[in-house]
This record gives sequence, C-alpha cells and structure tokens, in this order.
Amino acid sequence: MFEKILIANRGEIALRIQRACREMGIKTVVVHSEADKDAKYVKLADESVCIGPAPSAQSYLSMPAIISAAEVTDAEAIHPGYGFLSENADFAERVEKSGFVFIGPRPESIRLMGDKVSAKQAMIRAGVPCVPGSDGALPDDPKEIIQTARRVGYPVIIKAAGGGGGRGMRVVHTEAALLNAVAMTKAEAGTAFGNPEVYMEKFLENPRHVEIQVLADEHKQAVWLGERDCSMQRRHQKVIEEAPAPGIPRKLIEKIGDRCAEACRKIGYRGAGTFEFLYENGEFYFIEMNTRVQVEHPVTEMITGIDIVQEQIRIACGEKLRFRQRDIMLSGHAIECRINAEDPFKFIPSPGRITGWHPPGGPGIRVDSHAYAGYYVPPNYDSMVGKVIAYGATRDQAIRRMQIALSEMVVEGILTNIPLHRELMVDARFIEGGTNIHYLEQKLAHKPDLPKDGAIGAKSEAADAKADQ
Ligand code: ADP
Repeated sequence: MFEKILIANRGEIALRIQRACREMGIKTVVVHSEADKDAKYVKLADESVCIGPAPSAQSYLSMPAIISAAEVTDAEAIHPGYGFLSENADFAERVEKSGFVFIGPRPESIRLMGDKVSAKQAMIRAGVPCVPGSDGALPDDPKEIIQTARRVGYPVIIKAAGGGGGRGMRVVHTEAALLNAVAMTKAEAGTAFGNPEVYMEKFLENPRHVEIQVLADEHKQAVWLGERDCSMQRRHQKVIEEAPAPGIPRKLIEKIGDRCAEACRKIGYRGAGTFEFLYENGEFYFIEMNTRVQVEHPVTEMITGIDIVQEQIRIACGEKLRFRQRDIMLSGHAIECRINAEDPFKFIPSPGRITGWHPPGGPGIRVDSHAYAGYYVPPNYDSMVGKVIAYGATRDQAIRRMQIALSEMVVEGILTNIPLHRELMVDARFIEGGTNIHYLEQKLAHKPDLPKDGAIGAKSEAADAKADQ
C-alpha cells in the first residue's frame, strides 16, 4: 500500500480523501491555494504545500505546481478528487510520466470518455443502450443533417462532443431551425471546448437522471454498486441525490448494471466511474461516463457499506477487487442534500465568513463538510460547502431523518440553500418519488407560495452576510 498520497483538490472532497487515507494508515499531503491556507482540513493533513494564488488556473489547475509538490514531499500517488484536473487525460499522463500513480483510470480511458462521440460509440460497441441519434459526429453536408434529424424525429438536441457541465447543447423542435442551430452549436463548441464537433440525439422530454456506480480493477474484474437517482436538478446541476432510484423495477436496473460492468471489462476500465443515463418509459439511455469519484458517492456508500474512496486507492495500488457482484448487497435508502453557499431561491452565490455552524447528527446522519464556525468561504470556487446525507431502512425513514437534520442545521454569516432543501423534503411529489429532471425548475417557476427570499432563518442569515462584507 502507498505510504503517502497527495490530494490535488480542496474543500469537502479534500477532507473526505484525507479521512479515507488516515483510516488506511496512509500519510497525506494537501496542496492548497493562498485562499485556502487557513482552512482546518489543510492543517489536519500531515503536510501541506501552497501551490499558488486563489485563481484555480494558477493553483488547482496548475499541473507543474502539483507535480512539483508531489516531488518535494515524496508522495507516491495523486488523488485528483472531482472537478479541477480529475478528468484531464493530459494530467493523468503527466502524473504517471513523472513517476507517480494517478488514482483514477488510465489516460486512454479518460480520453475515450471525455469525447462524447467516442464514448457513445464505445458504449454502443459494448452493448450499452444509448439515446438514438446520429452515428458519430454530424457531417458538414446540410442534406445529411436534415435526413438524420428526420430519421431521429423531432425534437432533437445538438450536443458538443467536448461539452461538459451542461454547456454546449441546443434543443431543436423544427426543421426550419435545424441548420442554424447546428452552425451555432459548432461555433460555440469550437470556442468553448476547442473542438467544433457536434452530434445529434433525440431530445427526451421528461426523463429521469439515473446513474450506475462502477468499480473496476487492473485485473479485468468489475462490479456495479447499485444506482443513484439525481433527477432533482437546476440548470443541469444536481441538488439532491438518492439511492436506490424510487419506483424502477429491480430487474431493469440489474440488467443495465450488468451491462455497465461488462462495458468496463470490454474497454479495460480501471478505477471508480459512473455511467449516466436518462430513464424514460422504462428504458435507459446512456448519455455520458464520469471517470472519477462523484459528489454524490456517499449515498452509494451508505446503502452498500463500501468506501468508494478507499477502493479507488486500493485499485490504484494494483490490488484485486475484494468482492464479486454477488457479494454486493444493497440495504436501506440514502438521500443527499448538497449545501451551497447561495441565496436559497435566487441562487446568487453567498461567500463570506461562517459565524455559526451547527451541523445535525443522530442515527443515520452523515455530514461531509470542511466548514466550521469561523471558516471563510472564498468567492473563487464552487459554492458547495458540504453535504448532508440521511440513511434509513426505508425511503420514508431517510426522508424523515433528513427533515429532522435540516431542521437542526444552523449556518450563520452566509446564506445557504438549506431553506430550499427544507421545502423539497416536504414536497408531495418528491415524497411520492420519481420526479423528472425538469421538476425542480418547474416548481421554482410556478409555485407562488415558495418564499422568494429565503425561508426559515434566512433573514438573520442575510443580515449577518451583510455585516460580513
Ligand atoms: P454534461 O456533460 O454537460 O453534463 P450530459 O450529456 O451529461 O452533459 O447532459 C446533461 C443534461 O442535459 C442531462 O442530465 C439532461 O438534463 C440534459 N440532456 C442531455 N441529453 C439529453 C437528451 N438527449 N434529451 C433530453 N435531455 C438531455
């Protein structure tokens, strides 16, 4: 096993990885920007290295700075977390060329899955069902584009091969709008992602987002750890995740899970990964694969009892998976609420000093957060300050425990989206289960009774936030 791992990330996931390492008896090095130098999790690490100023481009995205930090501290492996350089094949390659282990998939796998056209083609070859659409990238010939759209059937969605984070997509409802939409998406994709290639898919009108967690080792063994439902989204960003996905027949999930594990073996995948699907009318359609640990991994950990971060480390070390598919038992239900430093209904980021931090506790409650009273939320990064995860024997119990947890939780000094989560945990459609990816935005747009400037406790939080500026 490794003796020392460098954590190339920040915030809650840096702390999460640090905890996994400590449990395994591995020493940790945390790299940080100047903006994060006083954070408690940085002080908790065995060693820390400042790698640059606050802007990510000069710190968390600086490959030479991170690799030098690994060299000076004698770390053996680098864990990239999520975001930042975690899905950058060039980084994975440079890490390995510099003599360190990249805790993640082989660079070729990251590259294959990072291009959505090649990812889809690989999945079709591996027998994973995909959204019907163009065979690969769209050609230049307008006639062919029109014919493809007629074959797929309107509405269609034009997507950038190099797209990510919900950007580089355009929905087209009529033939009259098609060619212009393709041209615009191509132009945008060229500027934003450095790759003008676009492809076409049938636009599914009311799907759910359901994803499969996989683990695969160097020795061609692969398992899937159940599914997660991440349909509660705003602007394609997940807000609440849960496992299992309510109301989907187990037989369907098992079939798709087995396909994902098989696909891992076929493409020689290594590490943790997630196959993302849209689910509509009893069918799964692959949309993309994430080649890293995800924000929502804890809900899977709660229902499987498997520590995904520790497994990533063991796999990177070359160990064989310690379990087969038949050993994986799903038990109970888990829900995660992402806690963001933002206005709960206007969604404007609310960085600043946290003056009061009272996390919830009790049976079945897990809080993954690097925040504390006195912690300063820097304005430079993602607004997520933590995650509350509730586990129960049943979905009802998990919801009840989450309701209680959210009622106990107090964050002062900044605004958070806790009031939104409180509303959602008592929402009749959420409680029923199985809402689609548009539900949250529709609710926010159409529910006049939703408080517009924050519910419980928001007033004092707003005042505190002002006082801090
Ligand atoms: P990104 O990498 O930018 O997250 P994805 O391909 O994962 O892009 O798609 C992001 C979101 O866009 C999905 O969760 C879904 O909400 C929507 N979307 C993507 N493809 C389709 C489609 N074919 N039909 C309907 N919605 C889609």
